[in-house]
Amino acid sequence: MKPKIVLITGFGRSGSSLINMLISKRINSVDVGELRFLYERGYINNERCSCNDYFRECNFWDGVIKKIPVDDPFEYSLLSKKTQRNRSFFTSYFNWFSEDDEKYIGKEKKLIDSILNNSSSRHVILDSSKVPVRACLYYKLREHYDVKILHVLRDPRAVSYSWSKDVPRPETDNKENMHKFSYLESSLLWVGVNFLSRLLSFKYKDDYKMIIYEDLCKNPVSVMDSVESFIFPGGNDSLNNSVFHSISGNPMRFVDNVDIKLDENWKKNTTKFKNIIPSVIALPYYYYIKVKN
Ligand SMILES: [Zn+2]
Repeated sequence: MKPKIVLITGFGRSGSSLINMLISKRINSVDVGELRFLYERGYINNERCSCNDYFRECNFWDGVIKKIPVDDPFEYSLLSKKTQRNRSFFTSYFNWFSEDDEKYIGKEKKLIDSILNNSSSRHVILDSSKVPVRACLYYKLREHYDVKILHVLRDPRAVSYSWSKDVPRPETDNKENMHKFSYLESSLLWVGVNFLSRLLSFKYKDDYKMIIYEDLCKNPVSVMDSVESFIFPGGNDSLNNSVFHSISGNPMRFVDNVDIKLDENWKKNTTKFKNIIPSVIALPYYYYIKVKN
């Protein structure tokens, strides 16, 4: 059986970290967080891994990167940004890969192999990088790995509220906050990123699945049952001994136990005026996708 890579796609603040944690509890896996930031936040900035050690002191990552020496992490950090912009989506979607794409994909193959070699019996990698173009690049790696796309969708009003808040980044010892977007920016990006993520269903077919965050919170057991069957259509009989070495993502990664409840703070903390923006720009598409799903 080929090793599996589960790529979480969708717009940020849609519950991807929660889903990663819930999958890890059920499936023997390695949660690597947002792997596309490995060079910038790991090699260059030496931020904290979710195991709480700094990147260069983390035994797991130390074992991984020893086998794939990187002479110039700045070059690969730049390459990661250049190859994974939303505007590069369609060229990669139709398999028109640039020299930079080929170079990045080659390096990713070595990285994935090194993660797998360093992960003992765990043959499932969870990557919550989220950008849909990454799934197009990873399509090239399907001869080596079983690549699964899990698209996470959340009510755009809740997502816009989340992007408007100040949220510290624990991996920088709270010296930095997470990036913020205005309601207009987050609503437009919500539509764009979810539209591109939906297109992956035509490319990946049975290896694509969408999860609605609100359904997950209301019915976690049945949604996670369906996710497990999606990752292991023939049944999963491996003992769970997951590890968490997530290099970038939601601060939730640093919490041991997470209470699954629907976060509806946006309802009491958002003014009617602000709510109009995602309601007009993104909410109709949210309901459309929900009905189609
Ligand atoms: Zn670690």
